[in-house]
Amino acid sequence: MAKFEEAVARNYSRRYVCKKCGSTIKADPMKVVAEKIKCRKCNAKKLRSPRKK
Ligand SMILES: [Zn+2]
Repeated sequence: MAKFEEAVARNYSRRYVCKKCGSTIKADPMKVVAEKIKCRKCNAKKLRSPRKK
């Protein structure tokens, strides 16, 4: 079970969703915080992590 949780954490912690167009972007969390990641489609810098209510 621990293995599964680790895998989920790894998958989701490096994945972000554009707030504007909803496309998924794989990125380094540090770069997202530093706003170095842009959405490929709409160039928005506003990203959120998936599965967040
Ligand atoms: Zn976008």
